[in-house]
Amino acid sequence: MTQPTHGVTLASLYQARARIAGQVTRTPLIRSQALSRRFDAEVFLKLENCQPSGAFKLRGATNMIRALLERDGAEALSRGVTTASTGNHGRAVALAASKLGVPAIICLSNLVPDNKVRAIEALGAEVRRVGRSQDEAFGEVARLVDEEGMTLIPPFDDPLIASGQGTIGLELLEDQPDLDRVIVGLSGGGLLGGIGAAIKGIRPATRVTGVSLSQGAAMWESLKAGHPVDVEEVESLGDSLGGGIGLDNRCTLALVRDVMDDHYQVSEVAIARAMVDLLADEKMLVEGAAAVGLAAIDEHGLDVRGQTVALIVSGNGVALETVDRARALAKPR
Ligand SMILES: *Cc1c(COP(=O)(O)O)cnc(C)c1O
Repeated sequence: MTQPTHGVTLASLYQARARIAGQVTRTPLIRSQALSRRFDAEVFLKLENCQPSGAFKLRGATNMIRALLERDGAEALSRGVTTASTGNHGRAVALAASKLGVPAIICLSNLVPDNKVRAIEALGAEVRRVGRSQDEAFGEVARLVDEEGMTLIPPFDDPLIASGQGTIGLELLEDQPDLDRVIVGLSGGGLLGGIGAAIKGIRPATRVTGVSLSQGAAMWESLKAGHPVDVEEVESLGDSLGGGIGLDNRCTLALVRDVMDDHYQVSEVAIARAMVDLLADEKMLVEGAAAVGLAAIDEHGLDVRGQTVALIVSGNGVALETVDRARALAKPR
C-alpha cells in the first residue's frame, strides 16, 4: 500500500500518543445536559480548554519537539525552537519546550500587548519583540532558523503537528466507541485533519464535520479552488480560526480533503450566541473558535437527533472585553 502524501497515519497517531503521555493532559469528555436536551441528542464536549496552555495545540507542539529529540538527539535541538504566534500556538510551543528542557524564542511584533508577552514568558520562553507586524516577526523566525540553527515549530502544516492534535480523536473513540459525529473548528487543518485521520482509521462511519469562519476562511476557499489560496484576514470572535493555510501547504490541505465529510461556515452572531450559551448553560468561558461546533448545529440546523455527537471545545484564549462583545452581539434572539 502506498503511503498517503500527507504522512498522517494510525501509526503516526499512536506514536504521538506515546510521546505526549504524561506531558499533555488527557482531557475529559463530558456529557452536556443542556445541549443534549436542547438537540434531543447525546452531546459531549471534549475539554481542550483544560490543557495547561489553554488549548489543544500543546499536543502537536509536544509531539513534534519530542520526535525531533528522539530522532536527532538533544544536541541537535540545543539551539532551541522558535515560532511567531501571539496566540495558542505560541503558548503551546513555550510550555512544551520548557517542559522538555529545550530553549524557545517566540517572536512577536511590538504591537502585541504586554499582557500577552508576559503570559508567554511565564510559560518559560524568551520573547523577542521585532518590528511592527506579524510579517516582521516571521522574518526574525526565518533568520533564527537560517543563521542561528534554531528549529521552526509550525502551527499546523506538518505530519507531527497534525498527528499530535489527532490524539484527540483516539481519546474520543476510547471514551465513546459509538460516536456518530464529531464537529471540529477548522483553520489550518491540523486539528480536524488529525482527528479525522484517527476517526477514519478506526471507525470510518463516524461523520467528521468541519466548521470555518464565514469570512477569511482560507481552507474553505482552498478546498473549493483545489489548491492553497490566500484570503484577506478579517477580525472575528473566532480569531484562532483566522490566518492562511500557507501557499506551499504540503500536508493539511490533502489531509482535510481526505478525512472531512461535510463543512459549514458560521456567522459572527452564531459564534457569539454559542459562546454565551456555553457560558450560561455550562458555566464554561471559552473562546469563539471553541464554540463553532455549537454555532454550526444552531445556525445550520444540523440534524443530530438521536445521535451521539462530540464538540471539540478547543481553547480558552479569550479576553473579558471579547465576552462583552459577544454578549452584545448575541442579545437579539
Ligand atoms: C489553532 C486553533 C484552532 C484551529 O486549528 P487548526 O489546526 O489551525 O485547524 C481551533 N481552535 C483553537 C482554540 C485554536 O487555537
